[in-house]
Amino acid sequence: MSNTLTIALSKGRIFKETLPLLAHAGIVPVDDPETSRKLILDTNQADVKLVIIRASDVPTYVQYGAADLGVAGKDVLMEHGGEGLYEPVDLNIARCKLMVAGPVGGAAEPEHMRIATKYVHTTRRYYAERGRQVEIIKLYGSMELAPLVGLADRIVDVVDTGNTLKANGLEPLEHIADISSRLVVNKASMKMKHERVKEFIDRIAEAVGRSD
Ligand code: AMP
Repeated sequence: MSNTLTIALSKGRIFKETLPLLAHAGIVPVDDPETSRKLILDTNQADVKLVIIRASDVPTYVQYGAADLGVAGKDVLMEHGGEGLYEPVDLNIARCKLMVAGPVGGAAEPEHMRIATKYVHTTRRYYAERGRQVEIIKLYGSMELAPLVGLADRIVDVVDTGNTLKANGLEPLEHIADISSRLVVNKASMKMKHERVKEFIDRIAEAVGRSD
C-alpha cells in the first residue's frame, strides 16, 4: 500500500464546506474543482490527493479502497449500507432532513401507495419497519415532479428549507432521519496507514469542534 492519502469529495456544497476543515489539517487543494476539469486534484502536500466524484459514489470508492477517506452525506451512507467503512466524525455540514412528502392537504395514504425516490433501500427499510408494503419508483432527480403528474402518491427526499416542496405544492409529512455529512474511512486504510489516517481524523474532528 502506497503512503499517499486519497480523499474522495463531491463538488459543490460538500467541497466548499469541507475546505476549511481540510485547511485545519494542513491540506489545501492546488486546483478548484468548480473550474478545473481534473478529477484528481493535487494539494499543497505531495502525498495527499483529492478525487472529485459524484456524491453517491463516495462510499463505493472508499469501500473498495480507491480512496482512503471521503466525505459523504448520511443520506448517501444510509442508502449505500456502510459496508467496509468506518464513520468516525460527524462533520455537521450540509445539514438537512430526509422526509416523506406529499401534496399539500392531499388525500390519506392510499392502500396501494407509490413512492418516488432515489433512496430506494432506505425507503424500503423505513416502510418495512412499519409493516407497510409500498411500491417504490426509482428516480434520479426532480422527485418533486412525480406527485404532480400522477407518477407517485408520495416522495422521499432530502429537505432543507422546504422551499422546493412548497414551490411544487408539496409538504413534509414524516421525518425519516436528520442528515449531515460524515467523514468515512476505508477499514483497511485505517489499519495499514493507521498513524497518518488517525492524525488526519483527529485534525478534522478538532476543526469541527472549533466551528461549533
Ligand atoms: P430546499 O431548501 O428544501 O428547497 O432544498 C433545495 C433542494 O436541495 C432540494 O430539492 C433538496 O433535494 C436539495 N438539498 C437540500 N439540502 C441538501 C443537502 N444537505 N444535501 C443534498 N441535497 C440537499
